Amino acid sequence: MIDIVGIYAEGTRAQIEAMLRFPRVIAISRAARRFGRDRWRIGAKVADVDIPAIEALGLTVTVSMTKADLKKVGPTADPRDYPTSLQIQNRLDTLAVKGSPFCTVTELTKSQHGASIPCLKIEKGPTSKKCLITAGIHAREWAPPTAVLTCFERLIAAYTASPIGSVTCGGRVFKPDAIKSIVENLNIYVVPMLNPEGYEYARGTDKFWRKNRADPPPVIPPECVSQDNIGVDINRNFDIAWEITNYYSPDALKGDGERTVSASSNPCEFQVYKGPGKLSEPESKAIDAFLRTGIKYFLDCHSFAHAVLYPWGIEQNQGDELTQNYGNTGNDHQRGDKSIKYGEFIDKTAEANLKHFAKVMKTAMFWATGDAYAVQAAWETYFAPGTAADYAFKIGVPIPLILECGSEHEKEFWPRYLKEFPKIESEVHAGILAFLGEAAKP
Ligand SMILES: [Zn+2]
Repeated sequence: MIDIVGIYAEGTRAQIEAMLRFPRVIAISRAARRFGRDRWRIGAKVADVDIPAIEALGLTVTVSMTKADLKKVGPTADPRDYPTSLQIQNRLDTLAVKGSPFCTVTELTKSQHGASIPCLKIEKGPTSKKCLITAGIHAREWAPPTAVLTCFERLIAAYTASPIGSVTCGGRVFKPDAIKSIVENLNIYVVPMLNPEGYEYARGTDKFWRKNRADPPPVIPPECVSQDNIGVDINRNFDIAWEITNYYSPDALKGDGERTVSASSNPCEFQVYKGPGKLSEPESKAIDAFLRTGIKYFLDCHSFAHAVLYPWGIEQNQGDELTQNYGNTGNDHQRGDKSIKYGEFIDKTAEANLKHFAKVMKTAMFWATGDAYAVQAAWETYFAPGTAADYAFKIGVPIPLILECGSEHEKEFWPRYLKEFPKIESEVHAGILAFLGEAAKP
């Protein structure tokens, strides 16, 4: 029986970054705290059986929360309170009837074992302005799929009312003219449940589950003994810096550089296994195909980093040196190395547009609940290759953003449905409607 416990780990930055690459380790504080010259401390949740291996890295480990303590902190969500993937699909079908004829539901694709992945289409506006909103790519992030679903239930209810109604998100009200503009000036595609098999597994068996439920690859490394070798992190499977061992420096991959590369080639990596090939998963394949239908605005909803993120995630941004870009193999094995000042090129105007959209979302979310989300480039947390948002940007989607809703204090991935979720839901609604409102402007 493995128990999850809370710890403080103290050591050098390299040791802490090596710890964060362990399976089952989840950092609690987003940034390690500095104590002195290369002496850092971080709070994390880990499996108790992994503590000896973490100590073997040279870290001093203090258990701050035993399993019993964690229980006292109070329960996280009861999974039964959140709708099942099937209920989400049924509610989308109901919504399509209510919004007929301009709303329809189609099947985006099926996941590996046959679960249907529905897509709501709201096609009232010109096809030149296509928006894609997704959620649920990570199985354990329970709040975003439901919050995205209810956002569009409210949008369509307001639009089909006579006269057109408003949508109130806490202190931020989207008035009838804003609702009308969003529906009539855009084509909106909504995929609230991108990883139904993973979601059901996280709800029913292992609430930490993040990947899909793809079968293990034919060859499993000998150190893989657990059933963690099932599944792929869909959000590391896209074709952007996917070949991590070519792309990054050996130090960055080991976690000895300035930042950890958050992706793994190892099928039994519990969280960030990138898959047997680029776009190997039905979910990432389907999103790739959809993005290529002319999507201009893409918002991928996650939890719980409390931020609106924009590209790049693969490396730090810079706007001066064109040759430093993901396509230049001359930079291979250098990225993420602290002795080489590599930065991923991003056009300054494109970056300003991304930031503008992110700030519009942040402001709306602040007016909704008074909670100030961060706006930052995705790489500032860690280097994440193979993400949907970076990939979208690579293939020419001008505005791809990530909404990381909720926070550590709001029960992390599992906000309780009646306690923490309503606030987060309000923020997600305000963020999405502000995003669409901005996209709908002439
Ligand atoms: Zn996520």
